[in-house]
Amino acid sequence: VAAELAGRLRPSAIIGESTFGNSDGAKNDLTQNYLPAAVQTGQVTISPLTEVLSIGRNTAGRYVVRYRRLAADGTVLGTGELTSQLLFLAAGSVGTTTLLLSARETGELPGLDASIGTGWGTNGDAFALRTFSGAPGASQGAPCASTRLLETGFGVPLRVENWYATALAGAPVTVQFSVAVDMDNRGTWTYDKTTGQVHLSDWAATKNAPSEGAAASFNQLIIDKGIAGPFPTVPGVSALTAHPLGGVPLGKATDYYGRVNGYPGMYVVDGAVMPGNTGGANPSLTIAAMAERSLDEIVKRGL
Ligand SMILES: Cc1cc2nc3c(=O)[nH]c(=O)nc-3n(C[C@H](O)[C@H](O)[C@H](O)COP(=O)(O)OP(=O)(O)OC[C@H]3O[C@@H](n4cnc5c(N)ncnc54)[C@H](O)[C@@H]3O)c2cc1C
Repeated sequence: VAAELAGRLRPSAIIGESTFGNSDGAKNDLTQNYLPAAVQTGQVTISPLTEVLSIGRNTAGRYVVRYRRLAADGTVLGTGELTSQLLFLAAGSVGTTTLLLSARETGELPGLDASIGTGWGTNGDAFALRTFSGAPGASQGAPCASTRLLETGFGVPLRVENWYATALAGAPVTVQFSVAVDMDNRGTWTYDKTTGQVHLSDWAATKNAPSEGAAASFNQLIIDKGIAGPFPTVPGVSALTAHPLGGVPLGKATDYYGRVNGYPGMYVVDGAVMPGNTGGANPSLTIAAMAERSLDEIVKRGL
């Protein structure tokens, strides 16, 4: 940050770049921690632009992963198949749920638990934009984000985060992002046999209501107090999530360490095992902690 402020580095942290990482190392991403550590073992090959299409098991009991290689423009370069005794799924809430649900419903892995596809949530995410007076200071830059957990007063506990909207560079707009602790509203993913696709089949606007209501109340409070500028550019809140979680319930579809029930050697180590909400936190550290806990246990106590 000091080097950026002094002009020795291209501004990144001081102009609030955070959402997709940070050019000058102020925010870690996988290219700075897990991935180089894995490559250094000499036992890992990373295959970018490789999409897993389906998983199954062959007659020898080995897991089968069918994939296609893509060019950067999406052109399909070819397909292939890998087999393995162990299979760790880390395709995220939607990716892992889709692969497992499809495998169960197509009969590739018919013994997968009936709970796969259930327990999915948005982490209570809601967005709003507000105007504010003043631009980020030349001396101190803009913080990546400021955040506070408000336990009462909004129906459900609410973590509110504000950050400078770099995409709207120059505009006096701040993004309000909030994460509500809604432990009730959950969605279900189902497999459509006619299209072969997986859909979130029962999500309705009412399921966003507690999260959106809490976010809207907070936004209004700030406006009423005169802290925001003259208008909220988006007075309501939008129903979208950056934090899809769940779909492979821990303790039902897997044991408490991500071992997939009924399929020895197969594991889920991603946000699919989260219970739809990480209790008022942005989820990536919780997901990473859970994956590390699972791996510790699996290494210590065996597969
Ligand atoms: C814009 C944005 C900003 C965010 N900022 C924050 C933040 O500041 N703090 C925070 O805590 N959380 C943040 N999140 C949320 C966080 O990134 C996710 O919760 C977290 O990365 C989920 O981890 P995961 O391991 O479950 O899945 P992911 O990180 O999504 O990893 C899954 C990987 O599997 C790949 N994949 C999926 N399907 C397939 C397939 N069929 N074949 C091959 N590969 C596949 C995906 O491309 C992806 O690389 C943000 C999310 C977004 C979208």
